[in-house]
Amino acid sequence: KANRLFHPEDTIVDVAGRKVGEGTISIFAGPCSVESEDQVVSIAKSIKASGATFLRGGAFKPRTSPYAFQGLGYEGLDLLKIARKATGLPIVSEIMSLEQLPAFEDVDIIQVGARNMQNFILLKELGKIDKPILLKRGMSATMKEFLMSAEYIMKEGNDKVILCERGIRTFETATRNTLDISCIPVLKRQSHLPIIIDPSHATGLSWTVEALSKAAIAVGADGVMIEVHNNPEEALCDGEQSITPERFDKIMTTLKKYAEFENKV
Ligand code: PEP
Ligand code: MN
Repeated sequence: KANRLFHPEDTIVDVAGRKVGEGTISIFAGPCSVESEDQVVSIAKSIKASGATFLRGGAFKPRTSPYAFQGLGYEGLDLLKIARKATGLPIVSEIMSLEQLPAFEDVDIIQVGARNMQNFILLKELGKIDKPILLKRGMSATMKEFLMSAEYIMKEGNDKVILCERGIRTFETATRNTLDISCIPVLKRQSHLPIIIDPSHATGLSWTVEALSKAAIAVGADGVMIEVHNNPEEALCDGEQSITPERFDKIMTTLKKYAEFENKV
């Protein structure tokens, strides 16, 4: 179902009137983790003013260490909804297990993180609901495996899948992961699904975000996911890769020279 052979035209995923994959660039921005109402509402207002399309924010966090901040959980989702109400930006958040699904009913896009890309039981259930799914590439997944995971969702009837390249594991240690830019033209050839790039998680370094966001547009991605934090040094998660709202605004000004943005509503 994800294969272009049987579906030649590009899929456009409609999220509350905003169209991902229509030929414009969708910007998914926001903090790695929702930390407080003040934090998420103030970031949401800033990124909205700069032209972001969606507000991202983690409530359930898949951390490497069990002793690291695990996210605010259900409260985090409630705070995201407050930020949506304050700005009108549709919200994106990561689900980690099936039991959380009812709490995501009022979330606009459900994210499946790299670590759950092959959680097939979760993918099958997400295939049975009528809601856009942002599927991130597993850090060691081939492009074929990535598409097969999309297929798990689509097989059950949900064809609103947005793919996200977020860097893969290689021998390189200068960056957290290696952004696989070639995956955009290759997957666009093989599949009709929209695909975005997440430079923040790909490198783990805030100063690479501008250059790689430009690369995302140049290579034909349908959007970019950028972590934005009001105080990156104090962030409870992924501060090193997060940019400030001011820096985000400058990057958006630059990106607007290269592309048209999905920012109509
Ligand atoms: C995230 O988007 O916050 C995240 C945890 O990403 P990934 O699954 O790509 O590591
Ligand atoms: Mn993060």
